[in-house]
Amino acid sequence: MIVGAGELPCTVFAVGALEHHTTGSRVDGTLQGVADWGAYTVDEAALRHGAGVEKETTNADEAYAETLQRFAIEEDGLVNWPPLPGLQLGEGSRDGQIRTQWCHGAPGIVATLADLLGEELAVAGGELTWRAGPLQKGANLCHGTAGNGYAFLALLEHTGDERWLTRARAFAMHAAGQVEHNRSDYGRGRYTLWTGDLGTALYLADCIDGGGKLPLP
Ligand SMILES: [Zn+2]
Repeated sequence: MIVGAGELPCTVFAVGALEHHTTGSRVDGTLQGVADWGAYTVDEAALRHGAGVEKETTNADEAYAETLQRFAIEEDGLVNWPPLPGLQLGEGSRDGQIRTQWCHGAPGIVATLADLLGEELAVAGGELTWRAGPLQKGANLCHGTAGNGYAFLALLEHTGDERWLTRARAFAMHAAGQVEHNRSDYGRGRYTLWTGDLGTALYLADCIDGGGKLPLP
Protein backbone atom coordinates (compact mmCIF):
# COMPACT_ATOMS: atom_id res chain seq x y z
CA MET A 1 0.00 0.00 0.00
CA ILE A 2 1.23 3.50 -0.79
CA VAL A 3 -0.02 6.34 1.40
CA GLY A 4 0.15 9.83 -0.11
CA ALA A 5 1.07 12.96 1.85
CA GLY A 6 1.13 16.63 0.81
CA GLU A 7 -0.73 18.19 -2.10
CA LEU A 8 1.71 18.09 -5.00
CA PRO A 9 1.50 15.39 -7.66
CA CYS A 10 4.15 12.71 -7.68
CA THR A 11 5.13 9.64 -9.62
CA VAL A 12 5.71 6.34 -7.90
CA PHE A 13 7.68 3.57 -9.55
CA ALA A 14 8.03 0.32 -7.68
CA VAL A 15 9.28 -3.13 -8.53
CA GLY A 16 9.16 -6.12 -6.24
CA ALA A 17 9.44 -9.87 -6.06
CA LEU A 18 7.73 -11.89 -3.39
CA GLU A 19 9.33 -15.25 -3.91
CA HIS A 20 12.44 -16.92 -5.24
CA HIS A 21 14.32 -13.71 -4.67
CA THR A 22 17.73 -15.19 -5.25
CA THR A 23 18.79 -18.38 -6.94
CA GLY A 24 21.24 -21.01 -5.84
CA SER A 25 22.77 -23.96 -7.59
CA ARG A 26 21.57 -27.48 -7.05
CA VAL A 27 24.11 -30.29 -6.83
CA ASP A 28 23.36 -31.12 -10.44
CA GLY A 29 24.27 -27.56 -11.48
CA THR A 30 20.75 -26.33 -12.29
CA LEU A 31 19.47 -23.15 -10.65
CA GLN A 32 16.84 -23.17 -7.95
CA GLY A 33 14.84 -20.20 -6.61
CA VAL A 34 15.20 -19.51 -2.89
CA ALA A 35 12.27 -18.03 -0.98
CA ASP A 36 14.39 -15.61 1.04
CA TRP A 37 12.64 -12.43 0.03
CA GLY A 38 11.56 -11.57 3.57
CA ALA A 39 8.01 -11.66 4.86
CA TYR A 40 4.75 -9.80 5.26
CA THR A 41 5.92 -7.95 8.34
CA VAL A 42 3.85 -6.35 11.07
CA ASP A 43 3.88 -2.62 10.44
CA GLU A 44 1.94 -0.11 12.52
CA ALA A 45 1.53 2.42 9.69
CA ALA A 46 0.24 -0.24 7.31
CA LEU A 47 -2.16 -1.53 9.96
CA ARG A 48 -3.51 1.97 10.54
CA HIS A 49 -4.51 2.02 6.89
CA GLY A 50 -5.87 -1.51 6.95
CA ALA A 51 -3.17 -2.99 4.76
CA GLY A 52 -0.99 -4.88 7.20
CA VAL A 53 -0.85 -8.25 8.86
CA GLU A 54 -1.18 -8.64 12.61
CA LYS A 55 1.15 -11.63 12.64
CA GLU A 56 4.22 -11.91 10.44
CA THR A 57 3.97 -14.48 7.68
CA THR A 58 5.77 -15.48 4.49
CA ASN A 59 2.63 -16.99 3.08
CA ALA A 60 0.77 -14.68 0.68
CA ASP A 61 -2.51 -16.60 1.02
CA GLU A 62 -2.33 -16.27 4.81
CA ALA A 63 -1.58 -12.54 4.62
CA TYR A 64 -4.48 -11.79 2.29
CA ALA A 65 -6.86 -14.14 4.09
CA GLU A 66 -6.29 -12.29 7.34
CA THR A 67 -7.09 -8.93 5.72
CA LEU A 68 -10.24 -10.30 4.11
CA GLN A 69 -11.44 -11.68 7.45
CA ARG A 70 -10.65 -8.49 9.33
CA PHE A 71 -12.78 -6.31 7.03
CA ALA A 72 -15.69 -8.69 6.62
CA ILE A 73 -18.90 -7.27 8.07
CA GLU A 74 -21.12 -10.11 9.25
CA GLU A 75 -24.77 -9.98 10.16
CA ASP A 76 -27.30 -12.80 10.51
CA GLY A 77 -25.07 -15.33 8.76
CA LEU A 78 -24.47 -13.02 5.78
CA VAL A 79 -21.30 -11.11 4.99
CA ASN A 80 -20.31 -8.10 2.92
CA TRP A 81 -17.21 -5.94 2.54
CA PRO A 82 -17.02 -2.13 2.49
CA PRO A 83 -15.49 -0.41 -0.55
CA LEU A 84 -12.53 0.85 1.49
CA PRO A 85 -10.89 -0.39 4.68
CA GLY A 86 -12.27 1.17 7.84
CA LEU A 87 -15.54 2.30 6.27
CA GLN A 88 -18.95 0.99 7.19
CA LEU A 89 -21.18 -0.49 4.50
CA GLY A 90 -22.75 2.29 2.45
CA GLU A 91 -20.20 4.81 3.67
CA GLY A 92 -18.06 6.47 1.03
CA SER A 93 -20.59 6.23 -1.79
CA ARG A 94 -22.39 9.34 -3.01
CA ASP A 95 -25.86 7.88 -2.48
CA GLY A 96 -25.06 6.10 0.81
CA GLN A 97 -26.36 2.82 -0.61
CA ILE A 98 -24.81 -0.52 0.28
CA ARG A 99 -23.55 -2.18 -2.86
CA THR A 100 -23.59 -5.91 -3.58
CA GLN A 101 -21.87 -6.27 -6.92
CA TRP A 102 -18.61 -7.49 -8.39
CA CYS A 103 -16.83 -4.12 -8.22
CA HIS A 104 -18.12 -3.31 -4.71
CA GLY A 105 -18.83 -5.90 -2.07
CA ALA A 106 -19.22 -9.59 -1.44
CA PRO A 107 -19.87 -10.86 -5.00
CA GLY A 108 -16.47 -9.66 -6.24
CA ILE A 109 -14.63 -10.87 -3.14
CA VAL A 110 -16.20 -14.33 -3.39
CA ALA A 111 -15.88 -14.57 -7.18
CA THR A 112 -12.18 -13.70 -7.20
CA LEU A 113 -10.84 -14.61 -3.75
CA ALA A 114 -12.98 -17.55 -2.58
CA ASP A 115 -9.87 -19.68 -2.11
CA LEU A 116 -8.56 -17.28 0.54
CA LEU A 117 -11.79 -16.80 2.43
CA GLY A 118 -12.40 -20.16 4.02
CA GLU A 119 -15.66 -21.94 3.33
CA GLU A 120 -17.81 -20.29 6.00
CA LEU A 121 -17.06 -16.73 4.95
CA ALA A 122 -17.26 -17.54 1.25
CA VAL A 123 -20.66 -19.20 1.65
CA ALA A 124 -21.95 -16.29 3.75
CA GLY A 125 -20.90 -13.88 0.98
CA GLY A 126 -22.54 -16.11 -1.64
CA GLU A 127 -25.72 -16.32 0.39
CA LEU A 128 -25.91 -12.53 0.58
CA THR A 129 -25.37 -12.34 -3.19
CA TRP A 130 -28.20 -14.79 -3.77
CA ARG A 131 -30.62 -13.08 -1.37
CA ALA A 132 -29.83 -9.64 -2.83
CA GLY A 133 -30.99 -11.03 -6.17
CA PRO A 134 -30.09 -10.05 -9.74
CA LEU A 135 -28.95 -6.47 -10.26
CA GLN A 136 -31.37 -3.89 -11.62
CA LYS A 137 -28.39 -2.07 -13.12
CA GLY A 138 -28.06 -4.66 -15.88
CA ALA A 139 -26.54 -7.96 -16.87
CA ASN A 140 -22.85 -7.07 -17.05
CA LEU A 141 -19.83 -8.39 -15.15
CA CYS A 142 -18.65 -5.28 -13.31
CA HIS A 143 -21.91 -4.29 -11.62
CA GLY A 144 -24.48 -6.59 -13.05
CA THR A 145 -26.18 -9.94 -12.70
CA ALA A 146 -23.52 -11.95 -14.55
CA GLY A 147 -20.67 -10.62 -12.38
CA ASN A 148 -22.57 -11.59 -9.25
CA GLY A 149 -23.32 -14.99 -10.74
CA TYR A 150 -19.59 -15.72 -10.91
CA ALA A 151 -19.62 -15.77 -7.10
CA PHE A 152 -21.91 -18.81 -7.34
CA LEU A 153 -19.61 -20.53 -9.85
CA ALA A 154 -16.67 -19.89 -7.51
CA LEU A 155 -18.63 -21.49 -4.66
CA LEU A 156 -19.54 -24.44 -6.85
CA GLU A 157 -15.84 -25.03 -7.45
CA HIS A 158 -14.97 -24.40 -3.82
CA THR A 159 -17.66 -26.51 -2.14
CA GLY A 160 -18.80 -28.96 -4.86
CA ASP A 161 -22.37 -28.12 -3.85
CA GLU A 162 -24.58 -28.24 -6.97
CA ARG A 163 -27.01 -25.76 -5.37
CA TRP A 164 -24.59 -23.02 -6.43
CA LEU A 165 -24.77 -24.10 -10.06
CA THR A 166 -28.56 -23.99 -9.89
CA ARG A 167 -28.34 -20.47 -8.52
CA ALA A 168 -25.75 -19.46 -11.12
CA ARG A 169 -28.03 -20.71 -13.88
CA ALA A 170 -31.01 -18.83 -12.44
CA PHE A 171 -28.96 -15.63 -12.60
CA ALA A 172 -27.86 -16.56 -16.13
CA MET A 173 -31.45 -16.77 -17.33
CA HIS A 174 -32.21 -13.43 -15.73
CA ALA A 175 -29.08 -11.86 -17.27
CA ALA A 176 -30.04 -13.14 -20.72
CA GLY A 177 -33.45 -11.51 -20.32
CA GLN A 178 -31.83 -8.23 -19.25
CA VAL A 179 -29.64 -8.20 -22.38
CA GLU A 180 -32.68 -8.85 -24.56
CA HIS A 181 -34.67 -6.06 -22.91
CA ASN A 182 -31.84 -3.56 -23.18
CA ARG A 183 -31.29 -4.42 -26.83
CA SER A 184 -34.92 -3.84 -27.67
CA ASP A 185 -35.06 -0.63 -25.57
CA TYR A 186 -31.91 0.92 -27.06
CA GLY A 187 -31.95 -0.71 -30.50
CA ARG A 188 -28.38 -1.92 -30.06
CA GLY A 189 -26.14 -4.01 -27.86
CA ARG A 190 -23.33 -2.90 -25.61
CA TYR A 191 -20.01 -4.17 -26.91
CA THR A 192 -17.65 -4.15 -23.93
CA LEU A 193 -16.28 -6.99 -21.85
CA TRP A 194 -16.85 -5.69 -18.33
CA THR A 195 -19.88 -3.49 -18.71
CA GLY A 196 -21.50 -4.96 -21.79
CA ASP A 197 -22.90 -8.03 -23.47
CA LEU A 198 -19.59 -9.78 -24.11
CA GLY A 199 -18.98 -10.52 -20.45
CA THR A 200 -22.54 -11.73 -20.07
CA ALA A 201 -22.06 -14.07 -23.05
CA LEU A 202 -18.99 -15.58 -21.37
CA TYR A 203 -20.99 -16.06 -18.19
CA LEU A 204 -23.82 -17.80 -20.03
CA ALA A 205 -21.33 -20.12 -21.74
CA ASP A 206 -19.75 -20.99 -18.37
CA CYS A 207 -23.18 -21.74 -16.91
CA ILE A 208 -23.90 -24.09 -19.81
CA ASP A 209 -20.50 -25.75 -19.30
CA GLY A 210 -21.20 -26.12 -15.58
CA GLY A 211 -18.40 -23.93 -14.24
CA GLY A 212 -15.89 -21.22 -15.01
CA LYS A 213 -14.07 -18.13 -13.86
CA LEU A 214 -14.21 -14.42 -14.58
CA PRO A 215 -12.13 -13.42 -17.60
CA LEU A 216 -9.30 -11.94 -15.54
CA PRO A 217 -5.67 -12.13 -16.71
ZN1 LIG B 1 -18.69 -1.73 -11.58
